[in-house]
Amino acid sequence: MKNGKQRTAIVAGGAGFIGSHLCDALLADGFRVLCLDNLRTGRRDNLRHLARDPRFDLVEADVIAPVPAAISRNSVDLVFNLACAASPPQYQSDPEHTMLTSVLGTRNLLALAERKAARFLLASTSEVYGDPEVHPQAESYWGHVNPTGPRACYDEGKRAAETLTFDFERAGRVEVRVARIFNTYGPRMRADDGRVVSNVVTQALAGDDITVYGTGEQTRSFCYVDDLVDGLMRLMACRTSPDGPVNLGNPVELTVRELVTRVLALTGSRSRIVRKPLPVDDPQRRRPDIERARSLLGWSPRIALEDGLRKTIAHFAEEQAAALPALAVGFRAAREGAGLTAKAGAVTP
Ligand code: NAD
Ligand code: UDP
Repeated sequence: MKNGKQRTAIVAGGAGFIGSHLCDALLADGFRVLCLDNLRTGRRDNLRHLARDPRFDLVEADVIAPVPAAISRNSVDLVFNLACAASPPQYQSDPEHTMLTSVLGTRNLLALAERKAARFLLASTSEVYGDPEVHPQAESYWGHVNPTGPRACYDEGKRAAETLTFDFERAGRVEVRVARIFNTYGPRMRADDGRVVSNVVTQALAGDDITVYGTGEQTRSFCYVDDLVDGLMRLMACRTSPDGPVNLGNPVELTVRELVTRVLALTGSRSRIVRKPLPVDDPQRRRPDIERARSLLGWSPRIALEDGLRKTIAHFAEEQAAALPALAVGFRAAREGAGLTAKAGAVTP
């Protein structure tokens, strides 16, 4: 509440993995939340627990189209733009839509924020750094993106979205925040979205082969979703404009093979590792420099990888058990083990 008035936040992409956790955090903070989502990669299931909350509504629409009246007729305080498929197979499955989502969607939501005098936050990405030649990546680095490759619809779309966002700010039209989000994981990721954490965990739990692309020596830095959402909330709330983008991610860097080793140990899985070709333009190294977030927001990740992976494994074990009741025994073992010491054999039918 602000001056006795309910504050309203729009979350575009709020039915997705990160967006649904952000809706939870905003509601917990007292906001009314209007989620705008086309449900392409998001799921109603991610929001089912909010169905009875009178302060929450889902408006099914595409951000490429003009913002629907169900959203624009409200007074609005904050606009979060998280709308965009984030996993490489998903954003590459309809590259034109991905590009337009970032460009037209961001323009439409910036215009909404301008009309409502609302603050705007863009969920940008570490992909704006491409396959980086500078390591770790600070916000001052301009990046190394292939503008014509299969990842460009996402990378260049987000770069254009950042450009638009800062153009609106420079013109004094909207107060903006831009978060460059690094690889984030946790409950409500889709089992089928093709990202490394969801793939490896679901494969390990099912006793299937673990797919490692390329040598597995490429690195990423994985941030647990609760930490990331805390960073987004702080960035939106910070009074002074950061005057540029802010990296949000966990600086603990590991190779894909190291990630697989951790997941195998935590699940007790005996899955085999199989090599698959490295996707085109797959970045070789990625680690955020988070000094700006530390100094501006007092933010740094708190959840250790092992703890985050345990919660994520429990989430996928639960989903697998719900999909196939025969797995329930393995799921119980996985939960009761707390340390998730259940053998993958136990969850394999
Ligand atoms: P997600 O696919 O789970 O969520 C994206 C949501 O946006 C989905 O609910 C989807 O249905 C919706 N959406 C997509 N296109 C839309 C459109 N045109 N109109 C309306 N809704 C649309 O992905 P996520 O991992 O939750 O990512 C959320 C945001 O964070 C994305 O913008 C992504 O680029 C950014 N990001 C995520 C990560 C990560 O590791 N998860 C890393 C960097 C940046
Ligand atoms: N990856 C992998 N096996 C998989 C899925 C992904 O080895 O089953 C690799 C992928 O090639 C990349 C890293 O893991 O090097 C992270 O991939 P993800 O799609 O999760 O995110 P992004 O490439 O966008 O950082």
